[in-house]
Amino acid sequence: MDDRGDVVILGAGLTGLSCALHLAGGSVLVEREQRIGGKACTDRREGFTFDITGHWLHLRDPRTQALVAELFAAGDLVEIERCTGVFTHGAMLAYPFQANLFGLPLPIVHECLLGLFEAGRRTDELPAGASLQAFAERRFGAGIARHFFVPYNTKLWGVPPDQLASAWVTRYVPVPEPSQILAGAIGLRQDGLGYNARFLYPAGGGIDALAGALGRRLEDRGGVELRLGTDLDSVDVARRVVRLGDGQELPYRRLVSTVPLPVLVDRIEGVPAAVREARSALRWIRWRYLNVATRTPSPRPEHWIYVPESRFPFFRVGIFTNALGAMAPPGCAGLYVELTDRDAQPDVPAVLAGLAEIGVITSPADVLFTEQHDIEYAYVVFDEAHAQATATIHAWLATHDIRSCGRYGAWVYSSMEDALLDGMEAAVWVQQ
Ligand SMILES: Cc1cc2nc3c(=O)[nH]c(=O)nc-3n(C[C@H](O)[C@H](O)[C@H](O)COP(=O)(O)OP(=O)(O)OC[C@H]3O[C@@H](n4cnc5c(N)ncnc54)[C@H](O)[C@@H]3O)c2cc1C
Repeated sequence: MDDRGDVVILGAGLTGLSCALHLAGGSVLVEREQRIGGKACTDRREGFTFDITGHWLHLRDPRTQALVAELFAAGDLVEIERCTGVFTHGAMLAYPFQANLFGLPLPIVHECLLGLFEAGRRTDELPAGASLQAFAERRFGAGIARHFFVPYNTKLWGVPPDQLASAWVTRYVPVPEPSQILAGAIGLRQDGLGYNARFLYPAGGGIDALAGALGRRLEDRGGVELRLGTDLDSVDVARRVVRLGDGQELPYRRLVSTVPLPVLVDRIEGVPAAVREARSALRWIRWRYLNVATRTPSPRPEHWIYVPESRFPFFRVGIFTNALGAMAPPGCAGLYVELTDRDAQPDVPAVLAGLAEIGVITSPADVLFTEQHDIEYAYVVFDEAHAQATATIHAWLATHDIRSCGRYGAWVYSSMEDALLDGMEAAVWVQQ
């Protein structure tokens, strides 16, 4: 039995690191991988730097702003003004689609505006628990829903948005005023809408600098035992013990878990039937993406582009090097391509032809290499069962002094900033 510390933290992603850092006392931080950072990690190859798709840092809360200001010296982070687009109907529109209809074929602009007027005449309120599709139709009208929200979200989530609850997800959807939609439709470009109009990024390239800075701070402070390459085997809630993959046991007074919620529940012994049932209602989607390295710069200026049309095998493409040139050798470009099909092997020539068609690469012949990656737990699916199922599980865990938090621990849709905040809040809970 290991008796070093009575606080165990599962997962050294941003939530786990932030929790460990904000604890006054010590803790044991258990991480399955050989590196810290979780989803906010970076892969490097042949001079190219690839995050796990786009990982742009948006800070709105004074607590995270203060933390990041402490972690980084002046100049270590650059602030970048977002430049994003939507490619559809052969045109590159400014983002967001709903506020920048100019450039679409005129009958489609007409249909979208007509839908907006009709939605504006409705007097009913959007019911609580409305689907994502109902949200889009109510807020923006049937045309905008049909030409962007439905096809884009169907590609992203793998299910039609009438089966998805709008809570959480719509927090990130810009809702322009009707006057802005009209202005955007006649060519008055609507920039700066939405939560992420500007973002921060490590000047040296690679979002892993954030986890790296947290890790160094933890090392300097001491008191945290980091166990890399260590899988969680099981949790014995009766004995308050975490059993690790190597057979070792860690007793806990308080357990903070940031591993995916279904993984945690599956590894707890003696879970009551109601909690097991709630766990079986949890749904999520896997991500399959390609890193693409080219020997030439991207002809497009955008940082990322939304691609709603089903004929393209991807729904979003990002160009790392448009945000920071240092993420590739001089004159080259690094891209990420988020694929619609997460099961089949991608048809790479078709993907590259699509990239050339939307104009983000000059030609497939310029591609130096592509690399396929999967993320098993990428996005939590917010269906009808989500709220009740997560409430049941968290309530039961709380009775055993277990707090499951972070994007996958809480089982929500949230950002790196939220992860840092969740870690701070978990530290407060531990110390209560
Ligand atoms: C595709 C994608 C794009 C994103 N883009 C952005 C963005 O642009 N901006 C932004 O702010 N946020 C973005 N996010 C969200 C951001 O990545 C997360 O909110 C944040 O990194 C979550 O941190 P976390 O510590 O809660 O979870 P994680 O990063 O998942 O950390 C959990 C840790 O637990 C470990 N673990 C898992 N299972 C076990 C086990 N059995 N035993 C031990 N350890 C285990 C994992 O290895 C991992 O290190 C994106 C997320 C995804 C998936």
